[in-house]
Amino acid sequence: MSDFSMTIGGAAVAGTGSFDVLNPATNEVHARAPECSRDELEAAMSAAAAAFPAWRADEAARREALSSAARLLKEAAAELGPEITAEQGKPLGEARYEALAGADWLRYHASLEIPREVIQDDERAFVEVVHRPLGVVAAITPWNFPVSSACMKIAPALLAGNTVVLKPSPFTPLATLRLGELLRPILPPGVLNIVSGSDMLGAWMTEHPAVRKISFTGSVATGKRVAAAAAPDLKRITLELGGNDPAIVLDDADVDAVADGIFWGAFANSGQICSAIKRVYVPGSLHGALVDALADRARSVKVCDGREKGARLGPISTRPQFGRVSELVEEALAAGARAAVGGGPLEGPGNFFAPTVLTDVEDGARIVDEEQFGPALPVVAYRDLDDAVARANHTHFGLAGSIWSADPERATEVASRLECGTAWINTHLIQGPSQPFGGAKWSGIGVENGRWGLAGFCEIQTLYRARP
Ligand code: NAD
Repeated sequence: MSDFSMTIGGAAVAGTGSFDVLNPATNEVHARAPECSRDELEAAMSAAAAAFPAWRADEAARREALSSAARLLKEAAAELGPEITAEQGKPLGEARYEALAGADWLRYHASLEIPREVIQDDERAFVEVVHRPLGVVAAITPWNFPVSSACMKIAPALLAGNTVVLKPSPFTPLATLRLGELLRPILPPGVLNIVSGSDMLGAWMTEHPAVRKISFTGSVATGKRVAAAAAPDLKRITLELGGNDPAIVLDDADVDAVADGIFWGAFANSGQICSAIKRVYVPGSLHGALVDALADRARSVKVCDGREKGARLGPISTRPQFGRVSELVEEALAAGARAAVGGGPLEGPGNFFAPTVLTDVEDGARIVDEEQFGPALPVVAYRDLDDAVARANHTHFGLAGSIWSADPERATEVASRLECGTAWINTHLIQGPSQPFGGAKWSGIGVENGRWGLAGFCEIQTLYRARP
């Protein structure tokens, strides 16, 4: 049995089965989570469908509920933080910050305007374009930011008037289940259902006939499966998928000034961020200095159990991901790459991996071409800027990228040549609830956040009132 309950139709549901959730710092079982059965999913879908008509009809109640949800989550951040750290691994301060970010997203959406535009007002007609909710939303999240990525879906979906069935990753279901428990008293039954289970549960959700919209964050491979599952029923989809973000350093950059930003842009959350810097392109003249500066920073950060005082980087969150990062680094080293720092796992039972900076590695190596999603960063020397931009764009990914330079105008011009959803200048990873975020190419379809993200949870209706 689990200490955690799913939220279905406003009630706590213990689940008929349960599964282990490991603490990545120890690889010991931290807790058990309910395994949602097909019947329980059916109940969640029915509850969401039944709650939809009343929920869509009362915008004021929705805004009030989102405000209350934001307040509750903010108050609970101190309690949710340790839960996130225990299942996901990040340091406690960052875990609390993640819960607070979730609260920010809820608060922002409580007052976000739902667009309504008059496009004709004359003797023939009064014509408006309005946004209507879609119905039941299936929301599916990954393990790197369980609570904030859930809030990024829940907030706009509920504001628009939809109801939600949300499934967190089986690696990190616990804090999301707590979020469901927390919000139970303030949302009408069925408006937000939180279920937990394996990947199969996600597949059942995407095929379910009650669902009109799938909001998915995860890997490219799963995103393609979700798109295929949505197609026969023409369900709407938003896909927030993987990235292989390049950072391009221009030849006028001051290495000391940019090194911190590049280091944390790559290594925050142990590199497990869709839009983290995954490869750096730097002119040959600055290559050695930047590698040294990044290696110094890597040496100075404390890598340990996120519950320990002073922890800056926690473990890699899942054993399979730990295996993948280890394999990519091993393969690069075997092919002649050099680790300026790090280069492999750290001692101990947890998924700890030394922050690693790799040189003597080029495009064509998997660590450069694929999404490593871990604390290992290849730094590649480029010949000229056209070469750097071409390499940055030579990928199926297109989530984000950044340009680092002493001349912001020049950097902006280079950024305009990047094929990606977000281009940052002299920073990386900055996101906010009003800032649309999504991927070009295989990194996604649609965006989250702001009025653009809200539109993804709506159907446009043209409301044509003829005048006599
Ligand atoms: P994943 O694709 O393995 O799993 C994501 C979620 O999908 C999990 O809840 C999983 O149970 C579920 N799932 C698995 N198979 C499914 C199926 N067939 N149908 C429906 N759902 C299914 O991804 P992950 O390993 O949890 O997360 C890491 C990936 O997520 C990385 O690629 C990362 O870049 C990406 N990501 C993207 C963003 C973004 O905003 N673009 C944000 C965070 C993470």
